[in-house]
Amino acid sequence: MYPEPNTDSPARLSVRQTDSPGMIYTIVLSAYRNLGKSGLRVSCLGLGTWVTFGGQITDEIAEDLMTLAYENGINLFDTAEVYAAGNFSVIFHRRSSLVITTKIYWGGKAETERGLSRKHIIEGLRASLERLQLEYVDVVFANRPDPNTPMEGSPFNTSKSRTFIIEETVRAMTHVINQGMAMYWGTSRWSSMEIMEAYSVARQFNLIPPICEQAEYHMFQREKVEVQLPELYHKIGVGAMTWSPLACGIISGKYDCGVPPCSRASLKGYQWLKDKILSEEGRSQQAKLKELQAIAERLGCTLPQLAIAWCLRNEGVSSVLLGASNTDQLLENIGAIQVLPKLSSSIVHEVDSILGNKPYTKKDYRS
Ligand code: NAP
Repeated sequence: MYPEPNTDSPARLSVRQTDSPGMIYTIVLSAYRNLGKSGLRVSCLGLGTWVTFGGQITDEIAEDLMTLAYENGINLFDTAEVYAAGNFSVIFHRRSSLVITTKIYWGGKAETERGLSRKHIIEGLRASLERLQLEYVDVVFANRPDPNTPMEGSPFNTSKSRTFIIEETVRAMTHVINQGMAMYWGTSRWSSMEIMEAYSVARQFNLIPPICEQAEYHMFQREKVEVQLPELYHKIGVGAMTWSPLACGIISGKYDCGVPPCSRASLKGYQWLKDKILSEEGRSQQAKLKELQAIAERLGCTLPQLAIAWCLRNEGVSSVLLGASNTDQLLENIGAIQVLPKLSSSIVHEVDSILGNKPYTKKDYRS
């Protein structure tokens, strides 16, 4: 089993009426979970900055989103050296009340400005801190496993040579933490085997192990978070911070009749998303979303709220990273917390039957 439910989990929520014009209510998010087995308490919803910040939306909207998130109890803000997120010091004063993350892998164009070498981890994190105008981040992630192992078929390509690269990464992460540039470190898109290797190296050399893996998790992508990560959590305490709960906006219903203007799939550079939506698989997903929409209506919520609450129902998930291109979307998505208590096992079963992709876990096998 995942962490024992405590008084904060599943999420409880209080709704405060406000007189402020334009905002009907403020949802005070009082649901916090530990990040893996670390002591770090993160809001079960976090705000991500990929695609939207510094590109799709104006700086004013970005500030409004961060303020709205913070006022509603979100303490987790996810950035990366490759995202164009702005400067946090303008908006927030109490740094200690925030959990800010960054991810290192793609820095600049030069060969040495990417990857997980000691050089790039240290230089990349320094540059991120400067850009974000922060003294430290709370969690620094290795944003990909480093594929620069010796070439396929080469006598140098052994599992040992990969371990050396992982050892270099673990040593560099330990260094940046010891230097006060980060509090914890984690992985993103790493396989269970790679995370286990990092953990073993850390234990062997008395270094700092990762606390969490950032993984894609939504109704159409389940295997890793539902099958592989629970095992890692139990064995080595690595938790899950999940991303793209709406599959880049697909699970909002907005792509039902094609690609609307201003949506993510219409943006320059996101042709891959458009192709995915218009593919046969994409059309079959839209048909399933119509059925899920009917469940959402029965529960008195929207499809995005159902989809986000569905991610939150998984107690192994420490936090779900949200994306939003305007404040209405963010407010709607935060409302998912109210839907969570409505997800009875029969509703979850109904959703599973529509999706038809529930992975088998050892637990299911036993029952
Ligand atoms: P998402 O929830 O799957 O997609 C967010 C997008 O969906 C929004 O920008 C918006 O796009 C649309 N949307 C959101 N709420 C909506 C609503 N209520 N109604 C209609 N449309 C709505 O999340 P994501 O942005 O892909 O990912 C969230 C965060 O996860 C990122 O910001 C990043 O921090 C993190 N992430 C990490 C990795 C990694 O490799 N570690 C990878 C991806 C993401 P439009 O309005 O433009 O259509």
